[in-house]
Amino acid sequence: MNMINITFPDGNVREYEAGVTGYDIAQSISPRLAKEVMSITVNDDLWDVSRPINSDASINLHKWESEDGKHAFWHSSAHLMAEALQELYPGIKFGIGPAIENGFYYDVDLGEGKQISDTDFLKIEQKMQQLASQKNQYVRSEVSKNEALSFFGNKNEGYKTELIDELEDGTISFYQNGSFTDLCRGPHLPDTSLIKAVKVLSVAGAYWRGDETRKQLTRVYGITFPKKKMLDEYLEMLEQAKQRDHRKLGKELELFTFSQKVGQGLPLWLPKGALLRERLENFLKRVQRDYGYSPVITPHIGQKELYVTSGHYAKYGADSFQPINTPTEGEEFLLKPMNCPHHCEIYKFKPRTFRDLPIRFAEFGTVYRYEQSGELHGLTRVRGFTQDDAHIFCRPDQLKEEFIKVIDIVLYIFKTLAFDDFTAQISLRDPENKEKYIGSDENWDKAEQAIINACAEKGMDTVVETGEAAFYGPKLDFMVRDAIGRKWQLGTIQVDYNLPERFELEYIGSDDKRHRPVMIHRAPFGSMERFVAVLIEHTGGKFPLWLTPEQAVILPISEKYNDFAEKVSNILNNSDIRTAVDDRNEKIGRKIRDNELKRTPYLLIVGEKEMETNSVAVRRQGEGDQGVMTLEDFATLINNEVKELTKY
Ligand SMILES: [Zn+2]
Ligand SMILES: [Zn+2]
Repeated sequence: MNMINITFPDGNVREYEAGVTGYDIAQSISPRLAKEVMSITVNDDLWDVSRPINSDASINLHKWESEDGKHAFWHSSAHLMAEALQELYPGIKFGIGPAIENGFYYDVDLGEGKQISDTDFLKIEQKMQQLASQKNQYVRSEVSKNEALSFFGNKNEGYKTELIDELEDGTISFYQNGSFTDLCRGPHLPDTSLIKAVKVLSVAGAYWRGDETRKQLTRVYGITFPKKKMLDEYLEMLEQAKQRDHRKLGKELELFTFSQKVGQGLPLWLPKGALLRERLENFLKRVQRDYGYSPVITPHIGQKELYVTSGHYAKYGADSFQPINTPTEGEEFLLKPMNCPHHCEIYKFKPRTFRDLPIRFAEFGTVYRYEQSGELHGLTRVRGFTQDDAHIFCRPDQLKEEFIKVIDIVLYIFKTLAFDDFTAQISLRDPENKEKYIGSDENWDKAEQAIINACAEKGMDTVVETGEAAFYGPKLDFMVRDAIGRKWQLGTIQVDYNLPERFELEYIGSDDKRHRPVMIHRAPFGSMERFVAVLIEHTGGKFPLWLTPEQAVILPISEKYNDFAEKVSNILNNSDIRTAVDDRNEKIGRKIRDNELKRTPYLLIVGEKEMETNSVAVRRQGEGDQGVMTLEDFATLINNEVKELTKY
């Protein structure tokens, strides 16, 4: 009997017969684990748990709880849905069907004039349930390129043959579940019986291969779970997400809008939204001032040549807004896609010495990037947005300290805005492919170590991703989890060796020689648009008191007290409290309800008694009646609460 050594993640090694599968290994640990295992990492590759392992290997078993486990589960579910669609819609052709962050989709071509609408979802779900309960195995087979082409060619599956054309012979595999066979790398579940709960979520149009000139396919989104209860919880979360959708609340709270006439993907900030954004900007400006940033302002366009120098033109030029031509021949400008090139030119305004560094330029810089109209989404995917941008130019020996300071700013912002649950991802270069990256080996090592040490010093919960760095430097990304458990990517801190090189940035060192500074790009919010969207969805529109557009609204119980209400409003405004008066001729109960819906933190009710004693009856959002207070006491209460939330 040929025995092989299997090394577990904890370093333990056990002997198994060659040909053992991930499933067998799980079974040898516990039958329960065998029931739950969904995929396996063998050395560095993700495999099916039913695939035989024939030589010594390091392994890691994945259950639902891990990303890799979920991925195999949802990817297998995409094949299950495809099988159901194939039975329900004869003649259907298949594009691609990947797992995504929450569930999976399949792009399909139903044929001329046919479509899927939400009234069809139930029948698709029922078919999927029925097929899942058949406990069909996902059977892997390796095929030659010719076999693959003729298999899908015979079925007239043009999308599949186009994909196969681009594959290398010897790397192609099929997976079959029931009557459905797919071109696929895997991995998949052992069989369909693990899929216990099924939901088809939506349909959308999607161009084949994301190319607007190609056919528009139907993208069917679905999600599945190993337990019915998990699906119920997920649907409940979706319902909550709907209530918190920033597009819905943005309209109800009059924060922002879009106009087809102005152009899609170009947000228009309404007065309340603009004030909210201004407060966020002022807050960050004050924090940055404390951390030694200098403000700069740069134009919205720049010569094409600027972006040729920066490399942005070569990389994004063809897929972005095209150059603007002037009446004078030969002049070409681009809408600014990034602020960095402009800031590099500001750095070059005069000679710099080692004593001048670090230099920190900050700008709320508005940039424009082309997004396909189908990709646009509220404030989170737009064509014009304002980054809370800054660039730090420092000496290599200052990198760690500067990095820590940026982390401090990000952590302070998260704390102030009540994003308590977040993780940070460190992206490093792939040590096997060092030639892919610009900058010296020594500098990379130093920068990566600086980021790792900076995160460790801050005691942060980090994930390290090797090979995820940009070609020009390692980076740190922050992911926050919102109040209903969804993850959002916010701030980024990125080290850059490339732009200083391209712009030939220099400083004179203490050795009197020329040196190249290191650049750090950082945007704690990401962009104002994205951040406000996430903040709306996180808080459900109940913004922190220091930020909210209206902190208190004064409700006279009848028109008789409108003048007094105005007087109260003026007095409070003079104490830096933002107020409004609801002097509509409505019953007080109605006024209270309406203003609670608007999520105003404090409602101040005034009538005869209050007018006589120069006071207000206070109601706190979500907490109800707080009793009668003098105006002075109320102002102190609010101002103290604001002070507690932000040190400014
Ligand atoms: Zn697959
Ligand atoms: Zn930048």
